[in-house]
Amino acid sequence: MLLMTGSYHTFQGAEKNPFYTVAVNDPIAPELGEVQMHAVKPKAPVVGRVVSTESCMQGRSASFVRHVSIDVSGTPLAGSFRTGQAFGVIAPGEDGRGKLHAVRLYSLACPTQGEDGSGNVISTTVKRVIDEYSAEKETDDQEAHHLFLGVCSNYLCDLKVGDEVLVTGPAGKRFLLPADPSKHDYLFIATGTGIAPYYGMVRELLQGPGDPASSEIHLVMGTPYTTDLLYDEYFASMEQEHECFHYHRVISRSDVRREYVDRYIDREMDSTFRSFFSNPRTLMYLCGLEGMESGMYRMLARHGLSEGFVEVKEPLTLEEHETWDAKSMKRNVKSGPRSLVEVY
Ligand code: NAP
Repeated sequence: MLLMTGSYHTFQGAEKNPFYTVAVNDPIAPELGEVQMHAVKPKAPVVGRVVSTESCMQGRSASFVRHVSIDVSGTPLAGSFRTGQAFGVIAPGEDGRGKLHAVRLYSLACPTQGEDGSGNVISTTVKRVIDEYSAEKETDDQEAHHLFLGVCSNYLCDLKVGDEVLVTGPAGKRFLLPADPSKHDYLFIATGTGIAPYYGMVRELLQGPGDPASSEIHLVMGTPYTTDLLYDEYFASMEQEHECFHYHRVISRSDVRREYVDRYIDREMDSTFRSFFSNPRTLMYLCGLEGMESGMYRMLARHGLSEGFVEVKEPLTLEEHETWDAKSMKRNVKSGPRSLVEVY
């Protein structure tokens, strides 16, 4: 076991340690507690069994997203994960080069206690990848534009109750709830299927085990259309039941108002979010598309609210945030100790 006592940035070697403790001295950083990694390694996957698969879509959406639950009881994965982590899935068959398919990671959408309350059933939120092929490298066929189907996401969506699936994990050491959740307030920001971990975290915070959290929780969910709002009924009902929970829907292709999550928070800054960002208890979580991370950091810099959430290295400065471009941001702008980020 490795006890880290410095800042959370010094995780060297942590990947190789299956079990270690994350501890931080910074008073505004979260104490994340113990987390287990790779109880089941990709080279030796275990067999899980699908126990439920349900469409997450509302009405006539153009997307296909499912909530898939897998029983892993009797394997080392059972009881070894925490909400916010991911697990691996290995699709059967071989890739185009004749190699076995590599493991693909999916965010857990369940609380630490699993879907069954005993850590035996894990779940995720999986979207079918249906796209048109386009060349990425010079050597690729520049004219090709055939139908492209994601291998693992479609496999996972096709599985029926009772089917077996090879799983690994858990993975992920930072996108977690604090060891003592009552010490913080939460801003959860999602785009699309990036909502997956929050479906686990919000259930854990509001429905236990133990008393419901009294922390303030804001969930900001961005999707193209209202029909793509995942777990919408659940979050709406939690907002009715819990005064501390606030659910914000942000629709990017609405006829009424087209908005991204960062623009929404910007617009609602004075009414809702300024005091929240200024509160030293607040943690910000970002999950989903990569683009929203830079959007949020620029917006926080503009409002003078970066402290703890964004770290900027020379030659960039916070004051000159208007001049930050994507390339220089990648190198010089990083998440601060109060930002927990899982973007792709
Ligand atoms: P989606 O349904 O297409 O929704 C994404 C939303 O974000 C759209 O409304 C989109 O608007 C908007 N958006 C686009 N660029 C943005 C930006 N720069 N800032 C803020 N909002 C922006 O999403 P999806 O297809 O599910 O994709 C979600 C991503 O999350 C994927 O890359 C996935 O890998 C990742 N993710 C998934 C999981 C998981 O467990 N499944 C976990 C972590 C991350 P427009 O399309 O209208 O422009």
